[in-house]
Amino acid sequence: MIRISTLASSSKGNASVISSGSTHLLVDTGISALRIRKGLEECGLSINQIDGIFYTHEHSDHLCGLGVLAKKNVLSLYCSRYLSRDLRGIAPSAKLTYIEPGCSFEVGNITITPIEVSHDAADPLGYIFQHGDAKLGYITDTGRITRSMRNLLTGVHALYLESNYDPQMLQDSGRPYDIIERISGDWGHLSNEQAAEVVAMVAHDELRHIILGHISPECNTPEIALQSMQTAVQQLGLATQVCVAPQSCRLNWVEI
Ligand SMILES: [Zn+2]
Ligand SMILES: [Zn+2]
Repeated sequence: MIRISTLASSSKGNASVISSGSTHLLVDTGISALRIRKGLEECGLSINQIDGIFYTHEHSDHLCGLGVLAKKNVLSLYCSRYLSRDLRGIAPSAKLTYIEPGCSFEVGNITITPIEVSHDAADPLGYIFQHGDAKLGYITDTGRITRSMRNLLTGVHALYLESNYDPQMLQDSGRPYDIIERISGDWGHLSNEQAAEVVAMVAHDELRHIILGHISPECNTPEIALQSMQTAVQQLGLATQVCVAPQSCRLNWVEI
């Protein structure tokens, strides 16, 4: 069994907890250290029990809590080589491990495989977390479906997946043209429709849970994202449970 709880999920801040029961990991620290500690407490954990923090990329909504967290705790951080330079400056006392897309390794009893994604950041990553037979994919902040996503997400039993924007709401948002182009471009974010394409790509009878995340507060709604994915799941003939990670509070454990 592996389980996931999200502490926050949107362009205003992202952090998730993944646990096998004895190994506990964080993905991103894009909310305040106070909120991370409080969220971990709600999960029955403390920061001292976290065996590793995995970073997707350097944008503030994925990173901002690290500086304060690192002042009081000795942390083990895992990130791409480029991001490690930033992290060393923010958290000089942390133990840093560089990781490469496609190269699997273990922390405790969880096997982690980083996945290359496509985003306007330095070497952004998604992940697969596996414990025993249970396999969880974690994909956020990507403008397109990459080849390694196609290859590595095969067979996942659960997927935390960005479903950032509704294309019409984005067009009608009144945002400057270059921002709209950035969000909807190959180095931006996944729309609800693109999230459904990812699910079609990895669909199989044992895909049990989809958690939709990083929903734009301005260019999407949880209801629209949920409806879009539920329709896609029905069309694929799957019995997959779909839920939405709340933007600013905790999603209770989803067990896989
Ligand atoms: Zn983000
Ligand atoms: Zn980003």
